[in-house]
Amino acid sequence: MTAAVRNDPTTVRVALDARSYDIVIGRGLLASLGTRIAALRPGAKTVIVSDENVAKHHLTAVEAALSKSGIATSRVLVPPGEASKSYRVFEQVCEAVIASRIERNDLIVALGGGVVGDLAGFVAAVLRRGLDFVQVPTTLLADVDSSVGGKTAIDSAHGKNLVGAFHQPILVLADTALLDTLPEREFRAGYAEVAKYGLLGDAGFFAWLENNWREVFAGGPAREHAIAVSCRAKAAIVARDERETGDRALLNLGHTFGHALEAACGFSDRLLHGEAIAIGMALAFEFSARRQGLAPMADAKRAIGHLAAVGLPTRIKDIPGSQLSVDQLMDLIAQDKKVKRGMLTFILVRGVGQAFIESGVDAREVRVFISEKLAEQ
Ligand code: NAD
Ligand code: ZN
Repeated sequence: MTAAVRNDPTTVRVALDARSYDIVIGRGLLASLGTRIAALRPGAKTVIVSDENVAKHHLTAVEAALSKSGIATSRVLVPPGEASKSYRVFEQVCEAVIASRIERNDLIVALGGGVVGDLAGFVAAVLRRGLDFVQVPTTLLADVDSSVGGKTAIDSAHGKNLVGAFHQPILVLADTALLDTLPEREFRAGYAEVAKYGLLGDAGFFAWLENNWREVFAGGPAREHAIAVSCRAKAAIVARDERETGDRALLNLGHTFGHALEAACGFSDRLLHGEAIAIGMALAFEFSARRQGLAPMADAKRAIGHLAAVGLPTRIKDIPGSQLSVDQLMDLIAQDKKVKRGMLTFILVRGVGQAFIESGVDAREVRVFISEKLAEQ
């Protein structure tokens, strides 16, 4: 990566006592990875875990940045895609890391999107009862979401992310230039999570995104700003509620509907996670406004209008080839959320920037709403 640092990097601190760490955000930051790691863990060796797509574009630069600071590296590559969050690949990565003679005070570097971050983070959480790790996110989703907050996991046959651990990184280095090689569809999907931070708790940021999203897509300072604001929002919530016993659930805005849609599509390329979340947030706003009378319809229209303007899907009928039934979606929502006496927990909204956790949503109301949405097809 030859991009020069255009501005001073932005640092967002995740405040978790002894597990606190910095997220450093900036264009061209990768060159400083070695000096930053050497300062944090002098003398540590590293194993870089990445996927084959990411490695093709960025592995050489990462290895150069580390060796420049005298840091020994080895590498473990996995196939791209969610299928790598499996027991089989997890075992392969563990064995490869052990074979590279990594010691208790050495480091794993996760270079990739959320798949690599979740997998490598979980390997770090359990190998030798816990190795330190550094996140170098390469997707927008990983920059603003998966690399921050310490959730690591692989998937079970029973569902996604069911086998995992909380394990915080010691550093997140978000070089926004790494996103220049990301396919546009992936970037746009990650943008849904950026918009989520505005929609859930920061109306000012949402208004800023409405005016500046084109610059965020184009790269440059607006992209860095959007990532920094998003990370700050997530860091604040994680600092309040690291293990999701309360407030952290706000981050699930759009995720109850979204997960059901993703699952109904078999977690395939038909619907990327962020695309599902865009539809889920549109549904959460509409449900809050139309069926629960909680939010002005104008706010729902505004939220949906922005997601649609950037090219994200906002309606169930936007999913290619979708033949979904209300029974299937209600079953998936119930599995995801556990119905208690006919009541579901949802993240609802009182308007743009005003999400809250509601644990008394009547499942029958949700069913009527989904039936109406499917009838609009
Ligand atoms: P991903 O890691 O699969 O990356 C998407 C695709 O882009 C892959 O094909 C990858 O090879 C490719 N790619 C990545 N970076 C690239 C780059 N710079 N240039 C070119 N290609 C690149 O997907 P994702 O959306 O980043 O992450 C999704 C995963 O994140 C899911 O498994 C989800 O469960 C997890 N997740 C975790 C958390 C958490 O808190 N831990 C939060 C949200 C999502
Ligand atoms: Zn998400």
